[in-house]
Amino acid sequence: MAELYNHHEVETKWQKVWDDEKAFKTSDDFSKPKYYALVEFPYPSGQGLHVGHPRPYTALDIVARKRRMQGYNVLYPMGWDAFGLPTENFAIQNHIHPKVVTENNVGRFKGQLHSLGYSFDWDREVNTTDVGYYKWTQWIFLKLFNAGLAYKSEMPINWCTSCKVGLANEEVVNGTCERCGAEVVRKVKSQWMLKITEYADKLIEGLDSVDYVERVKVSQKNWIGKSTGAEVDFELKDKEDKLTVYTTRPDTLFGVTYMVMSPEHPFIDKYKEDIKNWDDVIAYREMASKKSDFERTELAKDKTGVMLDGFTAINPVNGTEIPVWISDYVLMTYGTGAIMAVPAHDERDWEFAKKFNMPIIEVVAGSPVDVNEAVFTDVATGTLVNSDFLNGLSVAEAKEKITEFLTEKGIGHAKTNFKLRDWVFSRQRYWGEPIPVVHCDKCGYVALPESELPLELPEVESYMPTDNGESPLAKMTDWVNTTCPCCGGPAKRETDTMPQWAGSSWYFLRYTDPLNDKELASKEALNYWMPVDWYNGGMEHTTLHLLYSRFWHRFLYDEGVVPCKEPYQKRTSHGMILGSNGEKMSKSRGNVVNPDDIV
Ligand SMILES: [Zn+2]
Ligand SMILES: [Zn+2]
Repeated sequence: MAELYNHHEVETKWQKVWDDEKAFKTSDDFSKPKYYALVEFPYPSGQGLHVGHPRPYTALDIVARKRRMQGYNVLYPMGWDAFGLPTENFAIQNHIHPKVVTENNVGRFKGQLHSLGYSFDWDREVNTTDVGYYKWTQWIFLKLFNAGLAYKSEMPINWCTSCKVGLANEEVVNGTCERCGAEVVRKVKSQWMLKITEYADKLIEGLDSVDYVERVKVSQKNWIGKSTGAEVDFELKDKEDKLTVYTTRPDTLFGVTYMVMSPEHPFIDKYKEDIKNWDDVIAYREMASKKSDFERTELAKDKTGVMLDGFTAINPVNGTEIPVWISDYVLMTYGTGAIMAVPAHDERDWEFAKKFNMPIIEVVAGSPVDVNEAVFTDVATGTLVNSDFLNGLSVAEAKEKITEFLTEKGIGHAKTNFKLRDWVFSRQRYWGEPIPVVHCDKCGYVALPESELPLELPEVESYMPTDNGESPLAKMTDWVNTTCPCCGGPAKRETDTMPQWAGSSWYFLRYTDPLNDKELASKEALNYWMPVDWYNGGMEHTTLHLLYSRFWHRFLYDEGVVPCKEPYQKRTSHGMILGSNGEKMSKSRGNVVNPDDIV
C-alpha cells in the first residue's frame, strides 16, 4: 500500500519555510497592480477558534493565492478585535489583567490559524487594544467630536441587567442581550452618542456604487428605514397645543378614526389635570417602562392601551372629533411620539380598533371584503374613496394633493423620516478605549488636544463595574481629576469607555500602514490600497459592523483623511454554521467543532 500523506510532518515543514522566507509578505511596491482581500478579524475569546472562523478565511485565502499567482501585490492581513466584555468578565472572575487574558487568547488563535496554513501577512497584524492602535481610534473620536457628531445625552437606553452596560438597538435580540442572553430593560442614563443619523442619506446612496450581495444592501436600507411622508398637526379640543404626527400616508387622512400617543409623550404630564382616568394612565406607563423597544413594537401580539379621558383631537381635513389613546407600540424615539390611526389599511391599527371597538373607514378602494371583517393593506397603489376632494385620485396624486393642501393651510408639510437611531457610544466598563474628553464646570465637555493622545487606560485594582452602573475608572480619582485644556481650571476625565464596535470601524485602514506613528496610515498607502477589493464575512454583521464602519469611513472621507467614499468595493456575507443538532454553534450548547481536531 502506498504511504499515506503525513499531514503533521509535511505541513509543519512547509509552514516553517513559509514563515522563514516570509512567503506571503505584502510588498510596498506601489507600481504593481494591487489586490486587497479582507476577512473580519476575530474576537480572541478564551474558547479558541471554531469552524465558523476558517470558513470565510479559507474562501478568501484561495482568492488571495490566485491573485498572487496572477502578479498582483496582495494584501491579506489578520488582526484582533480584542476589547470587549467576555475578556473583561474572565479577568474579573480569575483576577488576571484583561491584557494578559488577551495575550494568551491571541497566542492560541494564532497557533490555530498557523496550523491551518493561511497565507496572511503576519507582519501587518493589528490589535485594537494596543496603545499604538487605539491612539488612532481616539483620534477619530476627536474628529467626530470636533465635527459635532459626538454628543452626550440623557436618554432612555437598553440596559443589560447582567452585563450592566447600555446596549445599542442592534445589540438587543428579542428583548435580550445579544452577548449574554439576559433581560434588557429601559433605563435613563447619560451616554455618549454618535450622530450616525446625519449620514443616513449618504449611507443609502453609497450602496449604489458598491458590489454587495443583494440581501446585504436590502438589510442596510431597511435598517436605515428612509421614508417620505408628511408631518400633520391635529388640534386638541380646548387645549393650546397641537398633536403632531408623522405619516407616510397623508393621503389616508380621511380614514383616521383615532390617535395614539406614546405613554412617555410630554403632553400627558402637561395636561395631567385634564385627564380623568389618571390612575389607569400611571399604571399603564409603569408597565410599559419595563419593556424593551423590541418587545413593545415587534413582539407585541396583543394590543394594549388606555384611552385618555379628557383628550379629544380634531381631524384637520374634516373637523371630526376623534379619541386619543396611549399605547406602548408607539415609541417616543420614532417620529413625533404620536400617530394617526387608519385602521382600514394598517394591520396594527386594525387590530387595535377591533379590540377597542373603534370605527373603521375604507379610504383606498379595492378591498375584497368589508374592511370591518378584514384589514386591507394592499394600498401602495389604488384609488381614493370616502375622502372628499381626494376621491377618484390615485394614491400618488392624492399624496401630492393632500401635502399641498396641508402646506397651504399651515397645518402640515412634507417630511422625510428615518428608522435609524443615533449610536450609543459609551460603555460603563474598563476594557475599552478611554474617551479622550474631559468635563469642566466652566467649559462643559472639552476634547483633549491631539498632542495628549494616546490617552492610556490606567491600571485599576478591580475591573468590576460599580453598583450604580459607573465604569471602574470612576474610582481612579488620580486619573479622573485633571486640568481643563481650555481654561486650565479643574476638570474630570470621562470615565466611560468606547464600545467594542469602535476598533473594528476602521481596522482595514490600519492594515495598509500598521506601524505608522504619525498618521493612522500614510496618504500613499491609503491611495494605493483602498478601497478593499473583496470583504468576506458574516451575515450577522450587516446592520452592526458593516453600517458602523461605512459611517466612519464616509466621515473620514468628508474630512479628507481617506481617498474613497466607500471602504469595501465588494462584500459577500455567508450564513452561520450550525452544529450537528441544527442549532447555532456555541460552547454553551456543546455542539462546537474544534478545527484542531479536523487539522
Ligand atoms: Zn448582557
Ligand atoms: Zn475649562
